[in-house]
Formats: sequence, structure tokens, C-alpha cells
Amino acid sequence: MSCASKRHVRPESAFRFRAVSALLPPSPPSLPAVRIEYPPPDISPWIAGNCGIQGVHHFESRRPGPHVAVTALMHGNEYAGAYALQQLLMQPLRPLHGRLSLIFLNLAAYKTFNPARPTLSRFIEEDMNRLWQPELIASAHTSVEMQRVREVLPVLETVDILLDIHTMLWPAQPLFLCSMTENSRDLAYCVSGAQTNPPAVVQDGGHGDGLRLIDYTRFNTPHSYTRACLLEAGQHWQKDAAQQALLSTRIFLAQTGTLSSAPTSATSSEPVRQAVVTDCVQALTSRFVFVQPFASGSVIRKAGTVIAFDGQDEIRTPYNNCILVMPNLRPRRGHTAVRLAKRLNNKTGTQA
Ligand SMILES: [Zn+2]
Repeated sequence: MSCASKRHVRPESAFRFRAVSALLPPSPPSLPAVRIEYPPPDISPWIAGNCGIQGVHHFESRRPGPHVAVTALMHGNEYAGAYALQQLLMQPLRPLHGRLSLIFLNLAAYKTFNPARPTLSRFIEEDMNRLWQPELIASAHTSVEMQRVREVLPVLETVDILLDIHTMLWPAQPLFLCSMTENSRDLAYCVSGAQTNPPAVVQDGGHGDGLRLIDYTRFNTPHSYTRACLLEAGQHWQKDAAQQALLSTRIFLAQTGTLSSAPTSATSSEPVRQAVVTDCVQALTSRFVFVQPFASGSVIRKAGTVIAFDGQDEIRTPYNNCILVMPNLRPRRGHTAVRLAKRLNNKTGTQA
């Protein structure tokens, strides 16, 4: 089910009901006290780019092959991906096949990063990862982020295979997100499956409040060669997330035949856990609160369990063994509060 279809849904829906239980909404938790374990990487040598567009580094081989890209800093305070790109760019890069682009996206937001208020530099005017709708890009709408989308779009329009790197505010294990196309799921599955502790792969239809880069038409067309996935590498500013970003990037570039450097991780002994998002729960009020501080990946065994309150509504799980994907424990009105997902069979990708 598309999250977009939930945009203006009022109760009742598969998960939203008028409150009837005697449970009282708890107080919202305070924001997590996340320690900044490593400083933002110095990307000043690479801000100019090497192909006429700021923050874009492009390399070509003499052999045919796909155009492969890794994007970082879609959100200005999520710098694990910038760390990964910095590590790559410090060595001479020559793709074995095709073309490679390494792109620092929201340079303006990253420039404002302040360790004393580290959550504020996610964007300058609006969330850059909700702007990838062709009609919106072609419209008169403008902002710092939209201008940047238009700047990098000519490059992205020629990319065949994309990895977009993010991190998360709330504590959570790394995971890959991809659209509903089989190609994109296979991409995420392969990059995950080459790791000792494979991150889960979650397919979803996107947010109700705008398209992500991985949802952009070029990467979200069934039966097309093009594909994309998004890595949530771990919690913001944690060394583990930076290492996960670098590991996944190296595996991605090796698997696409772009760079030869062998992945440092052994072949997985664990199966890749897969799930598909069925519902995207948006906070319709400013009083959205979970009944407990759920971690991403929590499984709620029983259908009908109340997991949150949203004003006068209760949010209940619509089926047994419902997986909570990336709950935002302090969602703002109109923003995604949590995605509800069903486990998929590993081999077939069908619902378990
Ligand atoms: Zn992000």
C-alpha cells in the first residue's frame, strides 16, 4: 500500500481508530542524548568537485559499463556517507568499467553543522529527500534544497545504479530501504548479503510527504536496468555508522564492477532479513506519542495492539507479527511517525 494514499486519511483506517481504551497517552520521550563520537569530516578539498558542479566527482573508465553513483549528505547532519566518500577520494580513483560519480548533496546544510545543536542542520529550508518528483522539480517552487536538486539532476539522470547513504536519529540497527521494484530489492539484498551481519532490507512505497531520491522515476521503474537503494547506516555520529557506510560503499562498488577493492567483510553466515512496508503512519496531530520507546525492528506479535496515540486516535497494529520500521519517537505533525512492515520470505521475496 502506498504511503501517499494515507496522506489525508482520517480515522478509521487499517491502523487508526478513535480511542476507546482506558490507556492514557504517556509523555513523549526526550530526544536521545547521542554522543558525537567523531567530528564531521573535512570535505573542503572536494567541495569544488571535478566536473563543473560543486560536490560532484566524476570518473570514467575506457571500458563500457554502468554509471554508478554514491550520494551522501542528503541530510546535512548525516555525515557517515561523507566520511565514506572522503575515504575513497583520498586515493586515486579509476573505475574498471563504466563511470563513477561520488556526490555530496546538501553542502549548504552541512556547512551549518554545529556540534552544540547537531540536529538543526538536517536541511536549510526543506527536506531535500522529499523533492524528487518530476512535476515539482519542473515547477516554479524554489528553495535552497530545490536549487541543489536541479543542480545535480543532470548527473543523476544518467546514473544507472545508486547507493544513497543516511543515518538515523534514534538508536537502530543499520538497514537498507528500497522501492517496490525487484531490481532495487535485489541490489539491496546483494550488498547486505555480503556482510557478516547483514542489515535488514525493507521495501517501501515512500513517504506521504514527498518522493525520495530512490523513488525518483529513473530508479523506480519496474523491469528497468536502473536501480537504487538507501542505506540507513546506523545512528547519527556513531563510529559504527561511519564504518558501515564505508563497508557498504566498498561492497557496492565491487559488486557493480566499478572498483576492484575487495570488501573487508566475510560472506554472510546470517540470512538477510527482508520486510515490506504495508502502511506508513503519519502524525496527524502534534500530540503523537508511542506507548513505549520502541526500537526499529520491534515485532508486535498480536494484531490490534495499541502502539501509539495521535490526539484522539489510537494507532493499532493491523496484523500479527507487525514490524515497526524506524519509529520517530518525537514526530512533528504531518511527518512519518512509523512504518508498519510484514516479514518476507528470504528466497522468494514473498510474504512470510
Ligand atoms: Zn537521512
